Amino acid sequence: MAKQEDQFKKVISHAKEYGYIFQSSEIYDGLSAVYDYAQNGVELKKNIREYWWKAMVQMHENIVGIDASILMHPTTWKASGHVDAFNDPLIDNKDSKKRYRADVLVEDYCAKIETKIEKEVKKAQKRFGDSFDKEQFVATNPRVVGYQEKINTILSRLGKSLENEDLADVKTLIEELEIADPLTGSKNWTDVKQFNLMFGTQLGASADSSMKVYLRPETAQGIFVNFLNVQKTGRMKIPFGIAQTGKAFRNEIVARQFIFRMREFEQMEMQFFVKPGTQRKWYEQWKETRLKWHLSLGMGKDNYRFHDHEKMAHYADAAADIEFKFPFGFKELEGIHSRTDFDLKAHEEHSGKKLQYFDHEENKSYVPYVVETSIGLDRMFLAVFSKALQEEELENNTTRTVLKLPAVLAPTKAAVLPLIKRDGLPEVARKIVEDLKWDFNVSYDEKDAVGRRYRRQDAAGTPFCITVDHDTLEDNTVTIRHRDTMEQKRVKIEDLRTIIKKEVDIRSWLMKM
Ligand code: ATP
Repeated sequence: MAKQEDQFKKVISHAKEYGYIFQSSEIYDGLSAVYDYAQNGVELKKNIREYWWKAMVQMHENIVGIDASILMHPTTWKASGHVDAFNDPLIDNKDSKKRYRADVLVEDYCAKIETKIEKEVKKAQKRFGDSFDKEQFVATNPRVVGYQEKINTILSRLGKSLENEDLADVKTLIEELEIADPLTGSKNWTDVKQFNLMFGTQLGASADSSMKVYLRPETAQGIFVNFLNVQKTGRMKIPFGIAQTGKAFRNEIVARQFIFRMREFEQMEMQFFVKPGTQRKWYEQWKETRLKWHLSLGMGKDNYRFHDHEKMAHYADAAADIEFKFPFGFKELEGIHSRTDFDLKAHEEHSGKKLQYFDHEENKSYVPYVVETSIGLDRMFLAVFSKALQEEELENNTTRTVLKLPAVLAPTKAAVLPLIKRDGLPEVARKIVEDLKWDFNVSYDEKDAVGRRYRRQDAAGTPFCITVDHDTLEDNTVTIRHRDTMEQKRVKIEDLRTIIKKEVDIRSWLMKM
C-alpha cells in the first residue's frame, strides 16, 4: 500500500514539475478537486481527445459529433431523473468530522479482500512455476473461493440496499464489517444520507424572472435533446451514433484522488441509437470495441478489466465499467451502458414533443434504444500519465525518470538539440525546428550538457531527441535518439519527417484496433 501511495505522490509531483497539471488558483491555496491543465497537460489532453474523436467519429460513417451547451433548460434534469435521483449516499465520521461516500467505503473494504486474493495467486504462481493455471486456482482454492464469496455477498447486499433506498442497512453493513475511518481509525459514524451532486445557479438578473438552472452533470442529455435534430438534418439511419466531448460538473462528496474525481471534469460520450430489441448485441459490441481502443495504446492488457454492474442506474438494463489499474488499484475508467429508451421517452413526456424515428424498413415509428459509451477525459489522462511514469535502472547503476507516453499522445514529438551553442550548430538546429513545426509540436533546447537535456526530455515524455553536431555541417545528418530504447541512429535531415511520422501518426496506432 505504501508503495502504491508513494507512486501516486510521484505522479502528482511529476505532473506539476513538468508542466502537466497545476492546482486551480494555487496562489489562494487551491480549490478542492479542481485542477488546471498546464502547457504540456493541455497538449496531452487534446491528443487524447483527438485519439478518441477520430476513432469514434471520423472512423465511423454512422457516428457524427455535436457540441451542446453546458447550460440546458432545467426541465431536462427533471426528465433525466437527476433532480430527484442524482444522489450519492454520504456518511460522516463523528470524531474526525470527515465525510465519505458510504458505498465507496464498502467497495474499498472489498478491494482489500481482493488484494488478499492477488497475494494468494502470486504465492501459488511462485510455488507451481510454469505449470500454474491461474483460472483453475482461483476457481478451486478454498481460501480464494472463500474471499470471493465474501466479496460477492457484500457487494450484492450493498447493491440491493442502495436500489431499495435502504440507507439504514448501508450503515448496518458498515458497522457489521467494522469499517473504520481510513484516516483516523474511528468507527463512530452518523446515519447515511443522500446528497444531490448537481451544481445549481441562477439564469437572468432580476429576482422575479430568474430561473434556477444547473451546470450539466453529464454531457449525454445534450445529445438526447438534439436526437431528432441530428437525425433529420444528417439523414441518419438507425443504428447511428452521436458523439460529444465537453465539461461536466459534479459536487462530489469525496474528492481526494487528484484528477480521478474532480468537481469540474470533461467527458467523451457517444450515444448509439438502435432498434428496440437489438440493444444487447450492440452493448456487447461496444464493450469489445472500446476495450480494443484502450489496448491499441499499448499500455498492457493486464491493466484493464471489465466490471459488470450489480446495481444498475435507474435508466439502464445492462452496464459495465472498463476498469484500469491506477496507482491506487483497479478503478472505473469508462462506462458502457445500455440505457434503454428511458431518456428519450422521459424527454417526450416532459416536453410534449415526439422523439421518434420512422423506420422505413419496418414501416413504423418507435423510440430508439440507446447504448452509451462514456469515458472521463481526465481519468484517461491519469491512466496514461500514471502508467507512463517509470523509474528505470540503467546499466551503469544510475536511474532515469522517463515518461513513456504513447508517442501518438505525447505533447512534444521531438526536441532539437545543438550539441554546443556555437560553430553554427544552433542555426542548423533552428532550421530543423522551423521545418518540422509544420507537422509536429517540436521544441528547441540548447541549455546544459546534452546528457542532461536527454534526461529532461525523457522526463517530459518527448519520444525523440534530434542532436545536431559538427558532422551535421559536413554531411547533413543528425543523431536521432529514441526515448524508450535510448537507441541512437545517424539519419539524414531530410528523412526526419518520415521517421517521426511513422511513430506518431494516429493512423498506425488506430490500425492496431
Ligand atoms: P464514479 O462511480 O467513479 O463516480 P460514475 O459511474 O458516476 O463514476 P459516469 O456517470 O458513468 O461515472 O460517468 C462516465 C465517466 O465519467 C466515468 O467512467 C469517469 O471516467 C468520468 N467521471 C465521472 N465522474 C467523474 C469525476 N468526478 N471526475 C472525473 N471523471 C469523472
